[in-house]
Amino acid sequence: MDKQKQIAILGSTGSIGTQALQVIAEHPDRFAARILTAHSRWQLLAEQARRFVPAAVVIADEGCYEPLRDALADLPIQVYAGADALCQVVESDAVDIVLTAMVGFAGLPPTISAIRAGKQIALANKETMVVAGELINALAIEHKAPILPVDSEHSAIFQSIIGEVSPIEKIILTASGGPFRTFSRQQLATVTPDQALRHPNWDMGAKITIDSATMMNKGFEVIEAKWLFDVEPDRIQVVVHPQSVVHSAVQFADGAVKAQLGVPDMRVPIQLAFSFPERLQSSFDRLNWFTMHSLTFEQPDTERFPCLAIAYEALRRGGNAPCVVNAANEVVNLAFRQQRCSFTDIHETIARTMDAVTHINKPTLDDYLATDAEARRYADSLLNK
Ligand code: NDP
Ligand code: MG
Repeated sequence: MDKQKQIAILGSTGSIGTQALQVIAEHPDRFAARILTAHSRWQLLAEQARRFVPAAVVIADEGCYEPLRDALADLPIQVYAGADALCQVVESDAVDIVLTAMVGFAGLPPTISAIRAGKQIALANKETMVVAGELINALAIEHKAPILPVDSEHSAIFQSIIGEVSPIEKIILTASGGPFRTFSRQQLATVTPDQALRHPNWDMGAKITIDSATMMNKGFEVIEAKWLFDVEPDRIQVVVHPQSVVHSAVQFADGAVKAQLGVPDMRVPIQLAFSFPERLQSSFDRLNWFTMHSLTFEQPDTERFPCLAIAYEALRRGGNAPCVVNAANEVVNLAFRQQRCSFTDIHETIARTMDAVTHINKPTLDDYLATDAEARRYADSLLNK
């Protein structure tokens, strides 16, 4: 029998994290939750720890340490707190796979720790690749840490190139188009967070759901694809596909196109990132070819969704530009959710921040940390004007 893989989930209380625990629960002989972590939702983390009995849990918000420790006092589980502890626990010898299911730039330091420790990375936290893809790739090679995509599009691309020895001619990155796909510019100016949070096909965390509505998410996925598959941006084509059945596709030199299809369910790519190269049995829904009716495809509209163009521009500028865009986006994404800015302020603030923050061509990790802080301050100052 194969060894039971020990999994550390960074962000186990989130949308990806809880679905990863469902995958683990379906295959107790193959996977075990070794480490679980959260930001501040300690009650849910404690519930998960009671059920899965990991060796350790980490709560990033130190103010939640005591209640969490007390809630788990009767169990043989180490309890830690703080951002540094996240970086330390992933280095444990016992851990085989680190699922990066935290949201935002905060995922970068623990992902780097895990790579330095040579762990297999199941990458959900795309912000890591957006901010520092070049650095991450160099570290992954140096430390022989495989990176397996969890993002559904990148998992589809990965599945489409297995067995190929020839280069990719083009990546066809599909996008649902989000809840505002058919909205006019005038309509977009007045949309509310509630409307934006109702995604047609996927039930995800709040931040990425807003990113899907602005299509910043798709822009980030273009950047993520460039670094994961070493394909230049002019060979990455975004295609709007409202049904989210074709999860993405790859075209080769002879014109052949391979795609991966399925019901929109993140547990499929999560499970594959854990089990690769094997595929395991699952109880998840199967595609029904006769109730699907139609699969449609459209060109994305960067006039109505400028965030997509901003991401391509950030890639063109290179260096710390994608890091700036990510930081500004985190600031305005939250501001929009808190009704401190309008939907169209999102792309305007990001574009202005990208133009203002000092450009660095070959950033080090310290440069990324400084850029992130500078971009956040700048984006904040624009919002407070
Ligand atoms: P959620 O908001 O649902 O969950 C985020 C998780 O990270 C929670 O466990 C949260 O803890 C924890 N967390 C948040 N901030 C911090 C922090 N500063 N320090 C430590 N832990 C933190 O997000 P999702 O699951 O939707 O997304 C996670 C990542 O996966 C994102 O990068 C997203 O882009 C990516 N992704 C998500 C998809 C999806 O379907 N949801 C699809 C593809 C990619 P707490 O609960 O305590 O707040
Ligand atoms: Mg995706």
